[in-house]
Amino acid sequence: MNEKPGIDNPQRKLIVAIDGPAGAGKSTIAWRLARKLGYVNLESGAMYRALGLKAIEQDASFEDEDALLKLAEGSRIRLEPTIGGNRTLLDGRDVSSRIRERDVTEAASRVSVHPKVRAWMVARQQEMGAGGGVVMEGRDIGTKVFPHADVKIFLDADPVVREQRRMEQQKLKAEVAASVAAELRERDRRDRTRAASPLVAAADAVVIDSSSLGEDEVLARAEELVKEKLSD
Ligand code: C5P
Repeated sequence: MNEKPGIDNPQRKLIVAIDGPAGAGKSTIAWRLARKLGYVNLESGAMYRALGLKAIEQDASFEDEDALLKLAEGSRIRLEPTIGGNRTLLDGRDVSSRIRERDVTEAASRVSVHPKVRAWMVARQQEMGAGGGVVMEGRDIGTKVFPHADVKIFLDADPVVREQRRMEQQKLKAEVAASVAAELRERDRRDRTRAASPLVAAADAVVIDSSSLGEDEVLARAEELVKEKLSD
């Protein structure tokens, strides 16, 4: 029986880290897994997106690391899990929809390369997840934010499949699909090649390749890993 807040053991509140590239299905799996467990789902990417939005609004250069750090330090970025989905608040304003737009997506990718920005974000994320009972997703959760996470999943998928999924999710027309796919590839490249915490599977992460798996199958595998941990 799946009782909240744990599958079988409500006493233990695990930290579950889900990392992987864009379009691998992290958000959906993290959200569904958190619901099943009665955990909180924290999307670390939304924080980089909120900072990217602030940089756009304040006309800050994406290259100016110190200015971006200052901007972060002067911001209140909050992730608010609600029953219907996660909200992101920037200085008290609900920016949940705005941060999904293309210009902010690009900005998030650009501001996230800077080590000082990352260190600030990581510290906030550690505070948010410290009590356990969280499914946190991102790019560096298992490697940097929670290197001792109880369960680490690296969710991957073939690039062509990921691009295809993005197109379908966003119901993109053919004219824009090609440029959005190119942007996704570029963001991926930036994530994997940056000097500070590049996107890489933690040595002790379980890699799940979702290329030919349905959402339910991936979720079942993730649940299995949590159950194994809870019965340790
Ligand atoms: O996951 P999402 O696509 O919302 O993340 C937006 C951007 O933030 C990513 O393209 C990535 O560059 C960055 N990011 C990161 N580290 C994280 C989460 C996101 O660098 N933990």
